[in-house]
Amino acid sequence: MVVHAGKGRRYAVNDNGGRLFHFSPAKATSNWSGALVEAEAAVYAPWLVGTIEDASSTPGTAIGAVQHTDLFLLGPASGESMEHGLRLNLASVAQATGFPDDRSGRRAGWYSLAALLRVSAGDILQVQPNEIASGIHGAGSASSRARTFAFLSDTLDNGAGYCTHLAEPEVFNDLLAAANRMVEKFRDGSHGRDCRGSCYECLRDYTNMAYHSLLDWRLADDLLAILSGEATGTRIEPRQPSRLLQNWAADFPEGDAEFVSNLGGAGPAVLFEQRMWVAAKSPFEAADDQFESPRISAVRRAAAADSRGIPEVVFADDFLLDKAPARIVSMVTDFEGIDE
Ligand SMILES: [Zn+2]
Repeated sequence: MVVHAGKGRRYAVNDNGGRLFHFSPAKATSNWSGALVEAEAAVYAPWLVGTIEDASSTPGTAIGAVQHTDLFLLGPASGESMEHGLRLNLASVAQATGFPDDRSGRRAGWYSLAALLRVSAGDILQVQPNEIASGIHGAGSASSRARTFAFLSDTLDNGAGYCTHLAEPEVFNDLLAAANRMVEKFRDGSHGRDCRGSCYECLRDYTNMAYHSLLDWRLADDLLAILSGEATGTRIEPRQPSRLLQNWAADFPEGDAEFVSNLGGAGPAVLFEQRMWVAAKSPFEAADDQFESPRISAVRRAAAADSRGIPEVVFADDFLLDKAPARIVSMVTDFEGIDE
């Protein structure tokens, strides 16, 4: 793993979810000389509409903020681990069959790791959660060589020094130990049984509300194990693939999706419309032309050897199967099959 830390500038860019912001000049009044009104803001606050003087909107723009503060970034030495068939960055590389790669699960993994590091830092430094912010760096990177990082930053302008301190070798070891202790605590007892992604007892708090649906302490644990070099090919695998695939198949008319509990010894799969297999994978397992995890290769071999004669397999992330199964339905339905 790689750690960067020190004083630096944090650039936050809000592109309104890709839609950008559109501002129009507002009328001047006796109290002020005018302003700009954002078109969508006027939808939520209709009284603003009357103040718009010229509705021909300005070119789309993003809003940025720059903060000088203390930063801490943790990431991999390389965005892909070919040896174990794992992809760690947010590059979207289609599967060997041409089936699209959905990055949501990996993105969730990075946000979750950042959230785990934040609660662990709060624990060892004895500071309030709102004194340290967390997020991911390299989110927009498209190249397969790109690296993604989880970052922490001091929320105080010019920094309080916390995040620089975290990178000192001894403190860093304490931080990793605290993160592993946290995960053990999350795994324990009723929380380990009942918390499927995140809750206010583990990674959620009011300051990271925008990411609550992405936070998953088990994904954070997987990613930390990969970065620490503790996760070999077998450790990284889908969670509860039988339950997820069985539930998913149950949404189709009988005959369109047949659940098979163990396809040739390589685990559960669903035979979809008699034309391809749908199997589950961890968001970090690669299944593309350049490299794939040994477990993925085993599923492909099992499909090829199966007597039904349907060799094609597409892999759905367990994260999506659990949180957005309808998305897998549309991906599979739209997928025409392998390009020959
Ligand atoms: Zn929880």
